[in-house]
Amino acid sequence: MRILILIDSCHPELTRELSAVAHELTRDPKLHGIAFDPTISPKESTLDILHTPTQPIPAVDQAAIISAILSLLHTTPFKAILVPATPFGRQIAPRLAMALHTGLVADVTQIQSTEHGLVMIRPAYSGKLMASIVNTADGPLMMSIRQGVFSGDHLPTKTPSRHVLAASVQLSPGIRILESRPKTMTEDIRQAKILVSGGGGIQHHFKELHRLAEVLGASVSASRRIVDSGIVSRKIQVGQSGKTVSPDLYVALGISGSVQHIEGLRNIKHLVVVNTNPNAPLTALADLVVEGDAVEFIHRFTERIRQRDAEGATHGR
Ligand SMILES: Cc1cc2nc3c(=O)[nH]c(=O)nc-3n(C[C@H](O)[C@H](O)[C@H](O)COP(=O)(O)OP(=O)(O)OC[C@H]3O[C@@H](n4cnc5c(N)ncnc54)[C@H](O)[C@@H]3O)c2cc1C
Repeated sequence: MRILILIDSCHPELTRELSAVAHELTRDPKLHGIAFDPTISPKESTLDILHTPTQPIPAVDQAAIISAILSLLHTTPFKAILVPATPFGRQIAPRLAMALHTGLVADVTQIQSTEHGLVMIRPAYSGKLMASIVNTADGPLMMSIRQGVFSGDHLPTKTPSRHVLAASVQLSPGIRILESRPKTMTEDIRQAKILVSGGGGIQHHFKELHRLAEVLGASVSASRRIVDSGIVSRKIQVGQSGKTVSPDLYVALGISGSVQHIEGLRNIKHLVVVNTNPNAPLTALADLVVEGDAVEFIHRFTERIRQRDAEGATHGR
């Protein structure tokens, strides 16, 4: 089955996650990617074929981007089109679905094969319910995929053959890029290898978490309890109505482990839970449970690491 993946040039690494979805759709997909910057060379690619235009198309020129995709679809039909649910993907996907007269399921977090056909599942109403959607339209199956949910780590790396789009794409005459500046991004918890995450049990001492994060070289995240209390921004909330994270190490301090929080934990390699209640739901998933006060844990643990580092420096001399 031929499947097309839209590549966001700001996030080419998501192509691997979208490829994982393609492999869930069918056993042996033929994976095509389309990028709008001809200089892009996705490292560690999972694609068989990469289509690029002859000249770069700026991300803001959505009409030209849609026309480039349509020119490819004109010669090569696809069973499914997968789009990353990034700001870029979210803008392109509905326009493309309209042009193709097909349905679009946005922000998919799970897919299931059932007797009714393929069911796409996504959070709805700020995560209050999970919607199961079946696409009955005739056109290609279109969905945007939430970041950080599907793991393509197991997929083999390939060198895609590069195809230049046959039709030359007209850039929109009304759009001129006068200047472009990189946006100053706040840290994205989805990229973190180590996360220290705080919840209701550390609400009044949340700042202490940064001490632990510093010695571990980690980023800080939080449960919704902390976000709703106005202590931190929703940008660092983990969970169903927050972000889905997949760090190598997740240290959860004073987090009970509600279903909505656990929904945001995917492919975590090691989970350490610090909680005064050894039976808190999250402990059932933990590799290591520390029973006790989260603040005391932070003080003693950071002290231990600092001591160890100091000893290492002394021995190294
Ligand atoms: C539609 C909907 C969407 C939601 N989406 C999300 C979401 O995306 N993310 C999310 O996190 N939640 C979400 N929630 C909220 C969720 O249901 C829980 O209310 C929330 O996760 C609880 O956060 P918590 O575990 O940090 O706090 P609490 O439930 O208050 O738990 C605190 C934990 O800390 C422990 N503790 C207490 N004192 C200490 C101490 N001194 N040291 C160590 N441990 C201590 C307690 O034993 C307890 O386990 C959502 C809810 C709804 C209805």
